[in-house]
This record gives sequence, C-alpha cells and structure tokens, in this order.
Amino acid sequence: MSALGDPISEWAGGFATGGLVHLNGNSLGPPRVDLTDRLAAVVTDQWTPGQVRAWFRDGWLDLPRTVGDKLAPLLGAAEGQVVIAGDTTSTTLFNALVAACRLRERPVLLIEAEAFPTDLYIAASVARLLGRELVVESRDGFDTYLGEHGDRVGVALAAPVDFRTGRRRDIGSTTALCHAVGALAVWDLCHAAGVLPTNLDTNDVDLAIGCGYKYLGGGPGAPAFLYVAARWQSEVDFPLAGWHGHADPFAMTPDFVPAAGIDRGRNGTPPLLSLVALDHALEPLVAVGIDELHRRTKELGEAFLAGLRPDIEVVSPRDPDQRGGHLALRLPDADAVEHGLAERNVLVDARPPDLIRVAFAPLYVTPEHVRTATEAIHSVLAPPN
Ligand SMILES: *Cc1c(COP(=O)(O)O)cnc(C)c1O
Repeated sequence: MSALGDPISEWAGGFATGGLVHLNGNSLGPPRVDLTDRLAAVVTDQWTPGQVRAWFRDGWLDLPRTVGDKLAPLLGAAEGQVVIAGDTTSTTLFNALVAACRLRERPVLLIEAEAFPTDLYIAASVARLLGRELVVESRDGFDTYLGEHGDRVGVALAAPVDFRTGRRRDIGSTTALCHAVGALAVWDLCHAAGVLPTNLDTNDVDLAIGCGYKYLGGGPGAPAFLYVAARWQSEVDFPLAGWHGHADPFAMTPDFVPAAGIDRGRNGTPPLLSLVALDHALEPLVAVGIDELHRRTKELGEAFLAGLRPDIEVVSPRDPDQRGGHLALRLPDADAVEHGLAERNVLVDARPPDLIRVAFAPLYVTPEHVRTATEAIHSVLAPPN
C-alpha cells in the first residue's frame, strides 16, 4: 500500500483537498489545483475579447460534443455517441426515457425498486405522460419479470451500482436479457462513470445517462451526459426538441428537423463555464484510463476493509468485483457519525436511518486518507473496552 512506485498516487497532489479526506459519495470531490486558472483563462482570453463571437471562435458551440467525445472512452463508447447536453441528470433521464419508450410501443416501463429516488419519480412521470404501466420490481424480481412478462416491457431502466449498498448489476447480461425479450435497456451510470468499466458499446447498451459531479469530478452542479448508441441515432425522437438539437439551429426554421448524430440529444444553450470545468476534470481520468481507475478504487476499498474494526457491519458485497466504488456501513445514528467524522476532517455521507457511505475516488483518495478515515471512525464510535 505504499505510495512509492505507485504512479497513480502522484495524481493526488494535483487536487486542492484543503486538508480534508473526501469520501463523500454523492457529490465527489475537491477541484484540481489549476481549475481556477483554466476558468480564468476562458474569461480573460475568450469571453472578454470575443464576447458573443466566442461561441463560434473558441469552439464553445461544439463543446457539448467535444467534451462528450472526451468522456466516451471512460464509458467504453466510440466517438459521436456521447453529449453533455447541459442539463441535470433528472432532466436528461426524462429526455432519454421518453425517447426510449417512443422506440418501443409496449405497455410496461420497468424499473428497479432500489433505484435512486429521482429515477423512480421521473419514470413514474414518464409512465403517466405516455400512458404506460410502471412496474417497480426489486433486484431479483426485475430479472424474473423480464423472464415471465418480457414481451410486455418496452423499456427497462437499471443502474450498474446500487446507490445505497454499492452492489453491482452486470450491464452486459441485463442488457442481453432485455434484448432477448425485445425490450430496450436504459442505464443510469451516476455511480459508475469514472470508476467502473461500463463498456457501453460492447455491452450493446441502447441509451444511458449519468451525472458529471460524482466520480467524474466536474464540480457542483456539473451537467449530465447522454449516450445514444449509433444504431438509434437516426430514429430517436427526444421530447425536449430544442433548437440546439436541430439539424441547422441558426437557420431558424419553424419546423424541427433533428440533427443527424448525437447532437440531436442537445436542446438549448449549454452552461459554458460548467462544461469547461467538467472538461478539465476529465483530463486526468482519461489519461489514467478506466481499468486503472477501477483497480485503484478496489485497492483503496480493500485497504479500508482491512483496517476496519471487524464488529462494524459492512452492507456492501465483500468481493470488490461485486461492488462499485463505495462501501456502505451500517451504524446506528448515521447522521451523528457523519458529523463526528466531519469534525475530524473526514467527509462521508449518511443515508438515513443507519447507513454511512464511504467512496473511494481513485485519483485523490490515498492510502493515507483511508487510514485516517478508519481511525476517525473508530474514535467516533464508542471505543471498545
Ligand atoms: C446522483 C444521482 C442522480 C442525481 O440527479 P440530479 O438531477 O443530478 O440531481 C440521479 N440518479 C442517480 C442514480 C444518482 O446517483
């Protein structure tokens, strides 16, 4: 576990951790130390001299797609299939789910009961809007439902990592199960992007979305991403048919003619400075590559478990290949533990009533942080006699 001879450790120095150990799993991370310079350069070198012209001169209009292409290798996607349309994860999920349902006119929209709340809410709203039946099934029931009633399912929405327990769902086999019954698979990659290989192309995924501010480190409110497999791009009909998704936005025609490629997934003027921050955050992740990021996350998680008092209940799978980048611990009064740890400069997050999540972002969490965290947890809990 020594940092010596461990090249990935060298990236940690490039983050402005502010003396904090950041293991919070819902909005990851410190900025890179040179983020301020990058943003300032956009303001002074592009915005100030160019003003409105910078949209064209400095590639701003293309940034949703160029940043999407930068992210693509981390997701296992070839070029031209990922875009950062500029919205929240919730909005992007809405757009993707309605579009997927329009590709398969069947009565059921299927979702896992363990899904993140916004996914449940948005799926329910989409079902209401389109007159579909929302079927919510717990993990095993989800597969059983596909096996028994698959011919009724138009679209199934799933996540490769359970946001509470960290437990994985295999993207390849679930997608194959959906396709075998003629359903489309839509994936929410929020807790996987930047930490787990998702291999969207080889797994034959139809559509996927995910947020930019967790393991991708794009900063507060970073825009979400959208993946549409090349084979669907000429057919997909998004409900948010804004002018930036038009084949020729500046022709200003009254009729919507969708853009040919992934640009169709865009809708309006993108949040430029947030896109720049996300672009900047992606650079070291892409340089390291998803396999090495995943290896490191597993190594940090194993080190954490090795140092953790054995009487503490771990809810996540013990096998590092069966979980994502975080571990969930069951501790009574999780909120109090979260606060006690924050007083010791260790940031985790509580999921009421009794779960604490600790997430191991591979670039800025170090083996030293992991040791500090287990010691802090032991000191916050009543010390054993
Ligand atoms: C974090 C998270 C979201 C967040 O949605 P926002 O619209 O970005 O707030 C959605 N889905 C999942 C699975 C998440 O983990």
